[in-house]
Amino acid sequence: MTDSDKNTRHQARMARKKAMIDASIARADQEKGLLLVLTGNGKGKSSSAFGMVGRSLGHGMTVGVCQFLKSRTDTGEEAFFGKQAGCDWHVLGDGFTWETQNREQDIATSQRGWAVAQRMLADPRYDLVVLDELTYLLNYGYLDADQVLDDISARPPMQHVVVTGRAASETLRDFADTVSEIADVKHAYRDGIKAQQGIDL
Ligand code: ATP
Ligand code: MG
Repeated sequence: MTDSDKNTRHQARMARKKAMIDASIARADQEKGLLLVLTGNGKGKSSSAFGMVGRSLGHGMTVGVCQFLKSRTDTGEEAFFGKQAGCDWHVLGDGFTWETQNREQDIATSQRGWAVAQRMLADPRYDLVVLDELTYLLNYGYLDADQVLDDISARPPMQHVVVTGRAASETLRDFADTVSEIADVKHAYRDGIKAQQGIDL
């Protein structure tokens, strides 16, 4: 086949592809507040959620972030987004469950944290609410899963919600509009590399 034949075939293939893509974009014409679940054992769940925080703020939207579980307040994301107008950042944990080693304390902390999330989910001023590491609180039974799903489904119709954390339940996955499962192919931590600023925190 000559180069000219190859170019002609390529162009015809791309024209067919463009027609298919344009038609599928035209079909997707609805708008609604989405529930996204970012789960799996690989790195990139919270950082993806914070990417959407940046996008939303760029559009002048109002964002609420609830960071469950973690207690550290020295992360780059909090330092940056916490001072942006339009972003309410709440660190609502007091450490991983193996650090506190106190189930009752974890439950009380989780429930206090959920009250903050509930206020956001009931407030149409928030265009995006991020519930970072929420899956752990559900999987350990620190929060009532039915209550959480009720609160999420009763939110304002155009409000987006992003839930992150490993091992999202089938119920949460079924309930979501978009679910991504990030696979752990490799992580530098296993080569003895400690968490790096800008990459991990
Ligand atoms: P990130 O915040 O970097 O997007 P994540 O939200 O997907 O990560 P978490 O389970 O919340 O993952 O873990 C947060 C921290 O643990 C980050 O420092 C991250 O790099 C690290 N981490 C994530 N996945 C792994 C893994 N598979 N092995 C070791 N460390 C990990
Ligand atoms: Mg995370």
